Amino acid sequence: MPAPEPLSLFTHLGSWHRDVREVPQALAAYEKAAAVNPASEGVLKTLAELYQETGLHPISPTGEVARGPVGKNRVALTFDDGPNPLYTETIMEELKKYDGRSTFFLVGMMAQQYPDLVLNLLAAGHELGNHTYTHPNITKLSQNDLIAEVLRTRVLIKDVSGRQTYLFRPPGGNIDEATTKQLRALDYNIIYWDINAGEYRKTASPEEQITRMLANIKDGSIVLLHNGPIDGTMSILPGLLAGLHAKGFTFVTVSELVAGK
Ligand SMILES: [Zn+2]
Repeated sequence: MPAPEPLSLFTHLGSWHRDVREVPQALAAYEKAAAVNPASEGVLKTLAELYQETGLHPISPTGEVARGPVGKNRVALTFDDGPNPLYTETIMEELKKYDGRSTFFLVGMMAQQYPDLVLNLLAAGHELGNHTYTHPNITKLSQNDLIAEVLRTRVLIKDVSGRQTYLFRPPGGNIDEATTKQLRALDYNIIYWDINAGEYRKTASPEEQITRMLANIKDGSIVLLHNGPIDGTMSILPGLLAGLHAKGFTFVTVSELVAGK
């Protein structure tokens, strides 16, 4: 007898959970089914219904955020593209010096390779977001490929950590109306930034970059930094943290910043 298709395994499991009103378990099974084969219309329809049934998790009225509220002298530093064994632990050590928490937008294929780093991030109080599985330009993907990229990473993070992710950062900042709509339907908030460390990098020394960033980061800012292997974040992070701390800023996750708590 041939082995059953993973899609039918997950949909059978999901439908069974749904019948006995175990909605979170049903949702998890249908997410796996859609990550394996998003082309299945029935799976996507059921998944959309389950997201509605469990209640969506918008962190702002539009579900799109580029900065947080002012008034508490806080900033959200965000790190894209990790985890990776070169710098994730170092970034965590730097943040710890200031009792800081951050949001890390993980690439699924990296998280799959380094699950211990994913758990270490959570144990240190950081927040996890979804940055797709292979880091493509999502505006060039078919709808099915977009869903697979996003759900594969969501399922992976959930399998590793038990946590559902509700924050998404588009790779390369590439996003459009259609992809935004699809991501919102998958219960993701789109997280942009108002300060991009890369913009200060052009022909500037690390000291000059830090000076310019310190001049521009404001109460409520969301700062785009990276957790990749060769992105230069580590050349500015210690100085940036020290400078922001000296100006009285504290470092919180995107969700904390936006909630104003
Ligand atoms: Zn990226």
